[in-house]
Amino acid sequence: MISTRQLAYGYAGGSALRFEDIDVAQGGVLLLRGASGAGKSTWLALAAGLLAPTAGDISVAGQSMQALGKVAGDAWRARTIGFLPQKLHLSDALTVHANLAMAQWAAGLPQDDPRIHEALTALGVDELAQRKPSQLSGGQAQRVALARAVLMQPKVILADEPTASLDDDAAAKAVQLLQTTARRHGATLVIATHDARVAANLDSQIGFQPLSLRRQ
Ligand code: ADP
Ligand code: MG
Repeated sequence: MISTRQLAYGYAGGSALRFEDIDVAQGGVLLLRGASGAGKSTWLALAAGLLAPTAGDISVAGQSMQALGKVAGDAWRARTIGFLPQKLHLSDALTVHANLAMAQWAAGLPQDDPRIHEALTALGVDELAQRKPSQLSGGQAQRVALARAVLMQPKVILADEPTASLDDDAAAKAVQLLQTTARRHGATLVIATHDARVAANLDSQIGFQPLSLRRQ
């Protein structure tokens, strides 16, 4: 579940971005649309707790993000929120397996190899566990990053432009994968995109909430 009230964020030297109030139910899907520069990535960074709002409030899974302390908050966020950034940020110094182990460490959890294999297997990439990210195709790397995002069985999955630079077939698969993975975990899913192919590939039987961000 995600709720925002009078949320605003101002980058240094720029005018503040103001966001309309949003409520997404637990297990719901929010499609965050809007032209480039509308504030989609900023909204996701606020929801992920990577940025602190300059005004207003955002709560995720019933927890006000501002009320979280820095250190305890980092581990809570790492366990509660799975973030799939536009640039996948997989470390090429580490194997696929070690990238996921590092995510567990960041969440303050002991390394759990069976859980890592389970997450990789669910996304069909377990046989790639000992490779380096640079030895993966784009679609494989995206599956690994999604496995990392859902490793902690997060209540919320945030995906930023997950179909950027994918061809139509891969884009359709990426959207379906996000949706089925979120459903399997009962997670709330937010996809930020300006790509019309995302809405076209979301399962209309499940339903999603569209929201167009505009600069205001
Ligand atoms: P979107 O993801 O919808 O393209 P962003 O959230 O990236 O939009 O950007 C929203 C606005 O904030 C844009 O005007 C952008 O130029 C500005 N912005 C984004 N990141 C920064 C930054 N690090 N410093 C200053 N301005 C930024
Ligand atoms: Mg963006």
